[in-house]
Amino acid sequence: MLPVDCAGCGAERTQLCPACRHALATARPGPTVLPWAHAAAPYAGPVRQLLLAHKERGALRLAGPLGEALGRAVRSALGARAGAAPLLLVPMPSARAAVRARGHDPTLRLAGAAARSLRRAGLDARATPLLRHARPVADQAGLTAAERRRNLRGALTVLPRARHGLADRQPVLVDDLVTTGASLAEAARALAAAGLTARAAATVAATEVHPTGVRPEG
Ligand SMILES: [Zn+2]
Repeated sequence: MLPVDCAGCGAERTQLCPACRHALATARPGPTVLPWAHAAAPYAGPVRQLLLAHKERGALRLAGPLGEALGRAVRSALGARAGAAPLLLVPMPSARAAVRARGHDPTLRLAGAAARSLRRAGLDARATPLLRHARPVADQAGLTAAERRRNLRGALTVLPRARHGLADRQPVLVDDLVTTGASLAEAARALAAAGLTARAAATVAATEVHPTGVRPEG
């Protein structure tokens, strides 16, 4: 077997070293740039490296621990509502070309892992890919928040028939990362247009997380 180094920090001979596993497991979820979207951890350090390894380098075994962190963000975002109704985790759709290039859909995989971790915690949760792109979207890199919102307006739609039998479930949008929140806002709009109200979203990481509700300094 080829030796595998820790995807978080490069420590030798383990895909996820104890220190990076601990950093992921003890991160404190909190609200992001969107108050209704909670993230498990800041997009920095080992968490950022682990997400990149899972998404871009196909380190699929990381889906378990990353999904557990996502599950904690789901519970943080829902608060007391977490057990009020069965949960429906709705992953943000990946562009078809990106799925082909990577050979997998990282967000769908994380959503499934998060649903499993929530079920282990005693909650009724399932993940269903309900959303797809209604039209191609320009690369978001380098766009301002307002430009991103314009770029994304009407970009997502709910798959016909996909929502069958899901009316009694509480939708929660899930993604690997939130930056400006424009994608999650567009996804919430698309769900609402189909009669599904997502009052919460959760991500593994965010460029801004406020675990205490206080804006971090620096
Ligand atoms: Zn490590």
